[in-house]
Amino acid sequence: MPLTIENLIAQAREGRGLSSDEAAFFIDHASCDQWQGAFRIAKLLTASRFQQRLHFFAPLYFSSFCVNDCTYCGFQAGNRLLKRKVLTEDEFLQEARFLWNEGHRTLLLIAGEHPLYSGVGQIASYVAALRRAGLDFSLIVEVGPLSLEDYGILHELGINHCLLFQETYHRETYTQVHRGRKRDFDWRLRAMERALSAGIEKVGVGILLGLGSWQFDLIRLIDYAYKIKEEFGSFPATFSFPRMRPANGTALFQNNAVSDGDFQKILAISRLTCPTVGLVLTTRESPDFRRKLLERGLGITHISAGSSTTPGGYTLKSKSGDDGQFELADHRPLLKVVNEVLKLGYQPVMSSSLQRELRV
Ligand code: SF4
Repeated sequence: MPLTIENLIAQAREGRGLSSDEAAFFIDHASCDQWQGAFRIAKLLTASRFQQRLHFFAPLYFSSFCVNDCTYCGFQAGNRLLKRKVLTEDEFLQEARFLWNEGHRTLLLIAGEHPLYSGVGQIASYVAALRRAGLDFSLIVEVGPLSLEDYGILHELGINHCLLFQETYHRETYTQVHRGRKRDFDWRLRAMERALSAGIEKVGVGILLGLGSWQFDLIRLIDYAYKIKEEFGSFPATFSFPRMRPANGTALFQNNAVSDGDFQKILAISRLTCPTVGLVLTTRESPDFRRKLLERGLGITHISAGSSTTPGGYTLKSKSGDDGQFELADHRPLLKVVNEVLKLGYQPVMSSSLQRELRV
């Protein structure tokens, strides 16, 4: 079949996906009307594959210590304004219990990169504390890139889902904005392959929008997803597209700020190319924009709500974000967001008792 936008839309509509070259052709040549067609197909594919299910999760930041200096991040080692903290086991449990009582059942354990404070030993102690307390969360881990052995230890701890974002696939830009051990582009690039090789079942990949050209980074991300599929049998579980946010003590560095319109194109192309991949939406985005994306049904399947990016931010101090990794744009409590998505026709995946409570 000749390479035309119409043929690509027909191919995507059948759920056959697009290659990265086909996605690049679409991005370069689609008219406004054809983009509208892509949005409609993205909605259809999402509805048929995910049936309006929306998985809620909460980030639990457990340490703000970091050995790296990423120019855009509040946790960067050189940020002298930040009061750093690593949660004790008791503090961690207090935060986890708060999120459990709110209705969350999936926790994203997240921290700056540090050999001690975010190493597998630290994670193991938190996992053991959760088990002792009977808090049966689904756990996702997002820390710096680990060795094959360390991913194996996470697997033995019962963790089956890890995230790591390359930030940008453009090596020159990557080198410009990262100092410290994170500067090793290839060690980071191969991390999710190590995780899968170690037995971790699900991985999530992503790009930090605002660094490189989104078109370049999206095509490289799709390439990478196909590589994972070829080697391990399926696409990564999720794609994430965090847009850069201001952070206390750092200058907002954006070479390539991404507009709301382009953000929607990124979601639609992701859904058309990799129809089975979950797409994540976080509280980096404003309530209005989050609502709009969910109304349009462009592909979102995972969502955070009522979040804090500060270790101890749920119960130990205010959610001001001053000691957080970055500023949030959506500060609404979980309940309000759940109510809204129910009205939009979604099925939240979270505490069933909270769902029942909201439906009566
Ligand atoms: S982005 Fe991650 S690695 Fe970089 S400074 Fe922030 S916490 Fe550390």
